[in-house]
Amino acid sequence: MTAQLIDGKAIAQKVREEVAAEVARRAAAGKSQPTLATVLVGDRPDSVAYVTSKGKACQELGMGSVSQHVPGDISQADLEKLIVELNANKLVNGILVQLPLPAHLDEERILQLINIEKDVDGFSPINIGRLAQKGREPLFVPCTPYGCIYLLEQVGVKIDGANAVVLGRSNIVGMPAALLLISRNATVTVCHSHTRDLPGVVRQADILIAAIGKVEMVRGDWIKPGAAVIDVGINSVPDATKKSGHRLVGDVNFAEAKEVAGWITPVPGGVGPMTIAMLMKATLRAAQIQDP
Ligand code: NDP
Repeated sequence: MTAQLIDGKAIAQKVREEVAAEVARRAAAGKSQPTLATVLVGDRPDSVAYVTSKGKACQELGMGSVSQHVPGDISQADLEKLIVELNANKLVNGILVQLPLPAHLDEERILQLINIEKDVDGFSPINIGRLAQKGREPLFVPCTPYGCIYLLEQVGVKIDGANAVVLGRSNIVGMPAALLLISRNATVTVCHSHTRDLPGVVRQADILIAAIGKVEMVRGDWIKPGAAVIDVGINSVPDATKKSGHRLVGDVNFAEAKEVAGWITPVPGGVGPMTIAMLMKATLRAAQIQDP
């Protein structure tokens, strides 16, 4: 292996320790406990698991959590009423609506309702809009893309002036990752399902962020020697040697890419742990903004 492994688990743990220390300092100074409200609509098993981990992380870091679990057939009006109540609740610093919402709900209107000072997931149109504009600072940025950038910065990858390629243009990962790279002066190419000659485009990348959800699609010979490779993909593949019968792999063929890249994140243990760590950091920041 020539690439340096980017240990997302260790970097996320350090972020969590820093957040926990600051939460304890606030408590000792008589300040309010940073508190995250999660809103879970319905019973999608993956969403239930994500929301449970977020609540658990709050507890581990000494933060408060408010869990709102509402039925999958909740009306738009009732969900909007809940968001308005959480906006007004002084004990709640951050509001996270677990996505995706059931199809009958208007996701954009719900995200738009979240007070931008409580928008710890960074998905409100105002925060995203500010991220897309030069010289405007969002209060919060989406946690997974921010986790990717944080990993690059922690291991000392130079973003300024780098050629960066982002695979995927979703609202949750690809597009905000591209905007964050641009804000840090990278020259960015965003690829999607209509991109021609994907391997040729990826070969130009000093920094590659892969977020397409396709099993090990990026091959070793697509990678520019020495590039920093951040693999966001989480894909489950059958594996008879595992008790669960499956294992997780990324969007990048790790075995091949690690022989060419300069830095690489593993899956699992790369970007995955960063999402919740960044959410905890954002919730602390929300409390610092609302109750300095
Ligand atoms: P989406 O399905 O919303 O978006 C996938 C993107 O990849 C789209 O822009 C799509 O293009 C593009 N794409 C799909 N197939 C190809 C292809 N063959 N060639 C080029 N581009 C392609 O996925 P998400 O952004 O939500 O998630 C991406 C991956 O990241 C998933 O594996 C997901 O599990 C993982 N993930 C991990 C997180 C974490 O680590 N905490 C958090 C969130 C996601 P088009 O727009 O043209 O359709």
